[in-house]
Amino acid sequence: MRIALISDIHANAEALSAVLDDIDQRAVDAIVCLGDIVGYGPDPAACLEIIRRRSIISFMGNHDQAAFDAGLRTTFSPLARAAIEWTAPCLNDADLSFLRSLPYRDERYGATFVHAAPSAPEDFEYIMDDVDAARNFPGFTTALCFVGHTHQPDVFPEDLGRRRVEAGRRYIVNVGSVGQPRDGNSRACYGLFDPEDLSFEHVRVTYDVATTAEKIYRAGLPGQLAERLVLGI
Ligand code: ZN
Repeated sequence: MRIALISDIHANAEALSAVLDDIDQRAVDAIVCLGDIVGYGPDPAACLEIIRRRSIISFMGNHDQAAFDAGLRTTFSPLARAAIEWTAPCLNDADLSFLRSLPYRDERYGATFVHAAPSAPEDFEYIMDDVDAARNFPGFTTALCFVGHTHQPDVFPEDLGRRRVEAGRRYIVNVGSVGQPRDGNSRACYGLFDPEDLSFEHVRVTYDVATTAEKIYRAGLPGQLAERLVLGI
């Protein structure tokens, strides 16, 4: 069995389409989205339409919540806030009620899934390093917990010093970002997980960054959002 894990699409339709094309060429049994379907990018409604049409299991990201919860926007950086203020009016009632319906965390396929951090999914804490990860291991009971949120593909072992996923040990795995990678690599990132042998790999996919950047400029979104996509930061 193989599960594709996508996260942090951020309204980047070109990246989402390229990733789904790549997934469709592999023997994948299900796709799980760890949240932030919208925010930052120029195609929020189109990305939501794709996620719903393909019945992709999805979880609540902070940008998804901020689309219908203006109070959360006050915690955002000026750039993120400008983008979500642009995004909200692009969404219709069906889009907003779909976003409202997203769960914060769940266990499936023997693993835990959450956008940001398992200990307090609604607080959207960032797991940036082993210290943040250590704080979160008591927050779930499965061997693996898959997260997104930082846009940095990574594996955090409970036992420090072990970077390879091994049966019988526990890990927090960041699946990376489809639509706004921040690890200096502009290619879209997603993960492939096999619940039977606990194998996991990050996959990188080239997409048409120039088209997404052009759409960001044309939409009147902050130009910095286009520049960062090109650089992968
Ligand atoms: Zn995000």
